[in-house]
Amino acid sequence: MKNLALLAPPGGGKGTQAERLVKTLNIAHISTGDIFRSIVKGTYKGSFPVNEILDYMNKGLLVPDDIVVKITLERLNQDDCKNGFLLDGFPRTLNQAEMFDKLASDKKLDVVVLLEVNEDGLIKRLTGRRSCPKCGKIYNIYYTPPKKENICDDDGETLITRSDDTVETVKKRLDVYKNETMPLISYYEKKGVLKRVDGDRSVEEVFKQIMEVIEGK
Ligand code: AMP
Repeated sequence: MKNLALLAPPGGGKGTQAERLVKTLNIAHISTGDIFRSIVKGTYKGSFPVNEILDYMNKGLLVPDDIVVKITLERLNQDDCKNGFLLDGFPRTLNQAEMFDKLASDKKLDVVVLLEVNEDGLIKRLTGRRSCPKCGKIYNIYYTPPKKENICDDDGETLITRSDDTVETVKKRLDVYKNETMPLISYYEKKGVLKRVDGDRSVEEVFKQIMEVIEGK
């Protein structure tokens, strides 16, 4: 069983790598960002403060810790997580990490992979991002474009841009990452589970490096 978490700045390639990792390792993919987008769309079961969540997301701010932790813990109790899971976008604050350690002490993280990415390229990585509304596949118009402009290679759907991938919101999200999420690096380093990977290489190379650090554990 492997319990993993991916730590990276917004646009750092978390989603792309997560998709591949969960397929290869046959573990559950828990993306808190995806869960919040489903809540906003109305396709996630439960009663949530939808307008409040959307407002935080569109401003590039973090959804309050108590909401995120509750949703993540509920998700982790589902059957598909028994074989291991990959946390993608959680935890994002020290408080979330501490709450998780306390409330899910039976679900200890084996490896936390930090994708180290050069800050200069991040704005282009985020504003160039497009995704398929049907299968969720992620493209980037500058680096990994679809074969046909704005159309998903796999199912022919028209690609969409996330509402929080605007230049303004992206800058805010990067600030939030620096101030709120980066302290987690030393938190997990002290626990001896942090593994650093160069996230500026090709998707294939980054994936290979992640698999190596996971399997080396
Ligand atoms: P992501 O898709 O991971 O970039 O997440 C999109 C947005 O969802 C973030 O900018 C936050 O507003 C919210 N979000 C996702 N995960 C978390 C988290 N762990 N804590 C707080 N807010 C989150």
